[in-house]
Amino acid sequence: MIAVRPKLAVIKFASCDGCQLSLLSLEDELLTIARAVQISHFAEASSRLEPGPYDLTLVEGSITTPEDRHRLKKLREDSKLLITIGACATSGGVQALRNFASHDDFMRAVYARPDFIETLATSTPIAAHVKVDFELRGCPIDKHQLLEVIASLLAGHRPRTSTESVCQACKRRGNVCVVVAQNLPCLGPVTHSGCGAICPTYDRGCYGCFGPTVQPNTVALSDHLLSGRVNESEAAMLMHGINAYAPEFATEGQRLWQLAGLPKTLHSSLQPARHEEPSA
Ligand code: SF4
Ligand code: SF4
Ligand code: SF4
Repeated sequence: MIAVRPKLAVIKFASCDGCQLSLLSLEDELLTIARAVQISHFAEASSRLEPGPYDLTLVEGSITTPEDRHRLKKLREDSKLLITIGACATSGGVQALRNFASHDDFMRAVYARPDFIETLATSTPIAAHVKVDFELRGCPIDKHQLLEVIASLLAGHRPRTSTESVCQACKRRGNVCVVVAQNLPCLGPVTHSGCGAICPTYDRGCYGCFGPTVQPNTVALSDHLLSGRVNESEAAMLMHGINAYAPEFATEGQRLWQLAGLPKTLHSSLQPARHEEPSA
């Protein structure tokens, strides 16, 4: 059990701030949270920023600069529990597409003076650098799952977040499957649940923003996608979306690129290793 009025920090690395906003958009519960914890460092909400140590640290964003790598190590030392929130922090985010290409080419295309930019050649998840106590997925995360994680960890037990696939949530909502009815590509069978199957509910396929589910059969899904729905490069692009560097999607995306006749492109310093669920 953590101390009474534990200190909470919300820290950002390379990200869009959308996952932090999920905490602020908990309108009905925010005052209760503020009474249960001391919000010590949350730059999105207050300019009063206290230094660590913290009892519970929520980390948004991926590691893309040498400075951030150093900052993260210090943050880990200062945090009793460190939770990653969102696709950027858990798999490197959409910015991890650089892991499959030349970041020099990207910088030349985007910046007038790329020589002013100090960056790593890769975007990597927080768990690639320090121990993570729990990972919450999504782009952005689901605010109710965030509430469950904060409440559970403050109470000293493992959060009860589902590990099922989007398909199961989709079926429970009574949706007509967009693959069957509309022949749309959908990553629901291999994607982690948590969103309540939002996209199929609104007649579009899931594009995997919650990342791979536990033991996803990506090869079987690809076979299905390739049987008349999309070609190899389109299937590869489906895998290489917001969670492109999540190991299961990275590996399958690379295989599909090869089937499309394109070379493997993963940055030479990286290996997509199978993801281990961190324990709380
Ligand atoms: S996971 Fe998505 S919403 Fe969250 S910070 Fe990254 S890009 Fe933004
Ligand atoms: S629409 Fe997608 S998520 Fe829903 S049941 Fe069909 S494949 Fe699964
Ligand atoms: S259905 Fe898929 S893409 Fe849409 S919000 Fe859910 S996980 Fe993300």
